[in-house]
Parts: sequence; structure tokens; C-alpha cells
Amino acid sequence: MKSEDVTIIGAGPAGIAAAIQLKRYGITPLLLEKEEIGGLLRNANLVENYPGFPSGITGSRLVNLFREQLQRVSILPAFEEVKKLYFKKKIFLVETRKKTYPFRIVVIASGTKPRGFADFVIPEEVKDKIFYEVYPILRARKKEIVIIGAGDAAFDYALNLSQNNQVTILNSGQHIRSLPLLLERAQAVSSISYHKNTRITRVSNNSQNGILLECKTLGNTWKSRADYLIFAIGREPQLDFLSEKVKQNFRALVKKGVLYLSGDVKNRNYRQTAIAVGDGIMAAMKICRRLKVVCS
Ligand SMILES: Cc1cc2nc3c(=O)[nH]c(=O)nc-3n(C[C@H](O)[C@H](O)[C@H](O)COP(=O)(O)OP(=O)(O)OC[C@H]3O[C@@H](n4cnc5c(N)ncnc54)[C@H](O)[C@@H]3O)c2cc1C
Repeated sequence: MKSEDVTIIGAGPAGIAAAIQLKRYGITPLLLEKEEIGGLLRNANLVENYPGFPSGITGSRLVNLFREQLQRVSILPAFEEVKKLYFKKKIFLVETRKKTYPFRIVVIASGTKPRGFADFVIPEEVKDKIFYEVYPILRARKKEIVIIGAGDAAFDYALNLSQNNQVTILNSGQHIRSLPLLLERAQAVSSISYHKNTRITRVSNNSQNGILLECKTLGNTWKSRADYLIFAIGREPQLDFLSEKVKQNFRALVKKGVLYLSGDVKNRNYRQTAIAVGDGIMAAMKICRRLKVVCS
């Protein structure tokens, strides 16, 4: 078995699980990751539904354990972003900035990307204060942070950041779509405030090194300042790197057993770590059978 047989795009829970399971069959995949190991899980405040951790575990601690397990089976991810995935003459060509790799089999475990947004323009000078995940600002202290959203992610982000900062959640509608237990926890934290029926209409640079927000609650306009603004308004599959030919032949390639989708990238509303891990393991088992490697 040559390592060029299988590549995995994305080292989140799905990609990591696929890599570990492939290694059990003696197949060493190339695990390609554009950022860091762990994917979206790095943002989770407290994971309470992943079996084996009866008191829950923070996303970052769980990611550390995943990283440790990858190291134990000697899988070192290549930190390269897949720019394009081509399929030519029965071979996948995986293009990164460094090189183009040929592979027989590809596992796409690239997760999701933030949903597009058009309510207001984000000026260039505040772009470094705008985030779509909390992971990059988990060390923030004494900051004013505004989160746009009303789902699990918005409330989970708020709980995570409220330990050391003042957090405001803005919901453009009036219904909350978060798990009731996250909502109850957020309601019990004095450093979290919540405004329903509130939209941001304009964002600009604030002279005191922050962001000036113009908001509208029903008919009333008001202004606020923030150090950071976080979007938690939903996510969609990250498949930007598919070439036209791969897109057109997608189903046939999946049916043929040379292309696999694992984890959040295919799970629509069922985006959970345990499901992503199970998907990754299942992809590896199917690959094993396809390559006729001894696997039980
Ligand atoms: C705030 C929050 C709280 C959560 N809490 C829980 C919880 O309590 N319990 C639970 O089970 N789940 C929770 N989740 C969900 C969980 O994090 C996801 O279901 C899980 O991370 C999905 O794993 P994945 O591997 O499919 O995708 P991801 O974790 O999104 O990983 C995809 C990886 O692919 C990489 N990638 C993407 N494109 C490319 C490319 N072109 N080239 C190379 N690499 C690429 C990304 O950088 C990323 O590392 C939470 C999520 C969030 C945001």
C-alpha cells in the first residue's frame, strides 16, 4: 500500500477519525489541514454529549486528546489548504499552494464555512475585529464582545467568552433556536445581555480602537461600541475547492467508492462530534474493503 492511495481533506474530528482507522489497516493517508487540528470543535465551550467524559470536556481539551492519538499512530498532518480537487484519467489531483498530489481515493472532511451575509458592509479597517468562530479570541480579557445570532453557537460562544468579558447577543428575530440548557446557563450569567428584534444596520471604525455599531430594535435606532463582533448566523458545507468535473460526477465518484464525504460537510442539521467521528471511521472501513486490505 502506497501512501499516495488515500488523502483526507480536513483534520477536524471526522478527518482525524478516518486517519486513525485507516492506520489500523496499515494505510497511511495524507491528512491535509488548512489551519489547525480540531476544526470547529476548538470552539466548543463544554462538550457534554461525547461518551467517555461523564462531566463533559472542553472542546480544546478534547482536541488535545485527538491530537495525542494522531501522534501515537504517527500521523502528522500536512498543513496545506486544498485549493482545487480535480479528477483526471481515474486519478484525483489535489492542488495545494505547494504542489499537486495524485491520489486514488479522497475523503472530504472539510466541515462547514460561515453562511454569507449581506445586511451591512464591513469596512476594511475593522475586518481584523470580526470573527466567525470564538477560537481566535478565547484569551480575550475585559473586552466588549457582540455576537449576532440566536442558535446554539451564539449562546455557546457567549458562555465561553463571558467568563472574562462583557458579551451582548443580538437576535434579528424574536425566537431563540438554542438548546434550552444553553439558554438557561446564559440567563444566569450577569456579563451576558441579550436583545431580540435587533439588527445591526451599520458598522464603522471607532476612534478608541474598536467598532461602532448602529443598531435598530423595532423602530428605534441606537449606537453601541464593541471590541469584537462575532457572526454566529449559520454555516454551510465547505466544498469551494471542487472542480467543475468533480461536481458534475460527484454521485458517480461516491458510488464508485473513490470519493467519500464525512462529518459536518454532509450532515446538514446533524452536526455533532460523535457523528463526525463515526462518519470518519465508516469511510475508512469502506476504503479498506475497496482496497481489499485485510480488515474486519
Ligand atoms: C460553538 C460550538 C459548540 C459545539 N459543541 C458541540 C458539542 O457540545 N457536542 C458536539 O458533539 N459537537 C459540538 N459542536 C459541533 C462539532 O464541533 C462539529 O460537529 C465537529 O467539529 C465536526 O467535525 P468535522 O471534522 O466534520 O468538521 P470540522 O470540525 O469543521 O473540521 C473540518 C476541518 O477541515 C479543514 N478544512 C476545510 N477546508 C479545507 C481545505 N480546503 N483544505 C484543508 N483543510 C480544510 C478545516 O480547517 C477544519 O479543520 C460544536 C460546534 C461549535 C461551533
